[in-house]
Amino acid sequence: MVVSSERTMALYCPACEKLQYHVFSLFEFASSLRPFQCKCGFTQGHIAKKRKRYEIRLLCPSGDRVRLLYTLREFWVAPLLTFYSMDDDEVLGFLGNPDDVESAVANWNSEGLDEEEFLEPEIIKEILSYLQKLAGSERIGCQCDMPSVGIDVYPDKVELVCSHCGSAMLMGATSAKDVKKVKGLEEIIMEPSSYTFLDECFKPVF
Ligand SMILES: [Zn+2]
Ligand SMILES: [Zn+2]
Repeated sequence: MVVSSERTMALYCPACEKLQYHVFSLFEFASSLRPFQCKCGFTQGHIAKKRKRYEIRLLCPSGDRVRLLYTLREFWVAPLLTFYSMDDDEVLGFLGNPDDVESAVANWNSEGLDEEEFLEPEIIKEILSYLQKLAGSERIGCQCDMPSVGIDVYPDKVELVCSHCGSAMLMGATSAKDVKKVKGLEEIIMEPSSYTFLDECFKPVF
């Protein structure tokens, strides 16, 4: 059995309504019950190790508790596991290889998008998927003391906003040029309470 050393979990947080990533490795599971907390402070759930099984305990946005049971093999080897809520098949999050989780998240986000709302749906999708990729590897953030950065989507632009300090970065999303500009950023770390237009930066911010 090939066990990957690193697993990524992406979970929707019922408290701050943002997607939160958790990365952990096999070696972290010394204790039998491991909590995972969102950046906003909310405890999203626990992973309990039970002999040869792992139980993931989650809280749904509806407030219901969900328990998902996986074998050791599924938990550490499956490329992608999707967490569903019990009754209405709502997707709660993903667990798996970092790359697979990232693309699942990108698809998941674009599913909710109504294409008619955007001037250039393909451009928006490409920009969002790149931003998700950065977020997945912790390369989007804010320098304030409680960073909580979310993405707001408009018909012709995308805005990153830190809900704690109010810092924001606006980026156009209507042309191939806009895509190129965003993809030129390897990391986006905003200054507390700042407001930036991507057009004004010549190189990756800070
Ligand atoms: Zn949260
Ligand atoms: Zn901030």
